[in-house]
Amino acid sequence: MLHILVPCHTAIKVCLNNKKLAVLTSMSTHTIEQLEIGDKLTNQQLCDIFGCSPQGGMRKSNSTNTLVLVSNHIESIYEDRWDNDVLHYTGMGTTGHQSLNFAQNKTLHQSNSNGVGLHLFEVFKDKQYTYAGQVILCSEPYTEIQPDREGQERTVYVFPLTLKSSRRYITAEDRQHTYQVKENKAKKLNDQEIALRVEHSTRKPSKTRVKTNVYERNVWVAEFAKRLAKGNCQLCLQPAPFNDKKGTAYLETHHIIWLSQGGEDTPENTVALCPNCHRKMHIVDDNRDIELLTQRAKHQIETFFNQEKAQ
Ligand SMILES: [Zn+2]
Ligand SMILES: [Zn+2]
Repeated sequence: MLHILVPCHTAIKVCLNNKKLAVLTSMSTHTIEQLEIGDKLTNQQLCDIFGCSPQGGMRKSNSTNTLVLVSNHIESIYEDRWDNDVLHYTGMGTTGHQSLNFAQNKTLHQSNSNGVGLHLFEVFKDKQYTYAGQVILCSEPYTEIQPDREGQERTVYVFPLTLKSSRRYITAEDRQHTYQVKENKAKKLNDQEIALRVEHSTRKPSKTRVKTNVYERNVWVAEFAKRLAKGNCQLCLQPAPFNDKKGTAYLETHHIIWLSQGGEDTPENTVALCPNCHRKMHIVDDNRDIELLTQRAKHQIETFFNQEKAQ
């Protein structure tokens, strides 16, 4: 089983960003031009750099002639969605029908001719603004029916935006965090509220490129662990629940100490598990199970090499 894990990389990235944030805090002359894609700002830093108000999803600044667009993935009632490199961005106005002539909807609608620079920030974590880069309105805004704050159906304007110079990606950590926040929110809604959101969801899933580090696992170690297991899960000790298409007992290999936490890709740290127990290790990761698996891996390796010697 392929493990897509990020923490090592993420830790470095977070450090770099913290360093950068620290630098940004001490520099009062930081400008828009110095911003880099992926920079994470506080609301105060964002306002200082752009000269805009600290509130709202669309923030116009006359001093820098910019319109800051915030796509908040955790708090917003809107469902901004990405379709490859196009962001379908919902306009301004939280209750009632939206209008193209209203405030910043008008600025955004005319952005190809009014000279106002559009800068996009995405929020994946509370109070943290991730710079996505400059965007342009790539086609005419269109209308859609969406529920407003009170759950009333109303017409909204959706603005298709594309990034000017780069492709969009999010880090695996940001993506995971956003999902967790939404998951917690979903659990608190009543049945009607959930049904309303389901009804208004698009059938087309949002598509996103995720920047992630993938651990290349040693195939010999994995195969060795499976052979030692002899078709039985090393946690529940039951036979594999099914055979694959080639008739081989299906087990998945797992690192007792996860590679992302510094575990080694060695036989001593690798076991073969049934899919159920494998999931359990990733969800619960109980210390007693870890101990049990460590002992069993060790014992099986010793038995294997003793038999080798005897032959
Ligand atoms: Zn099992
Ligand atoms: Zn695993």
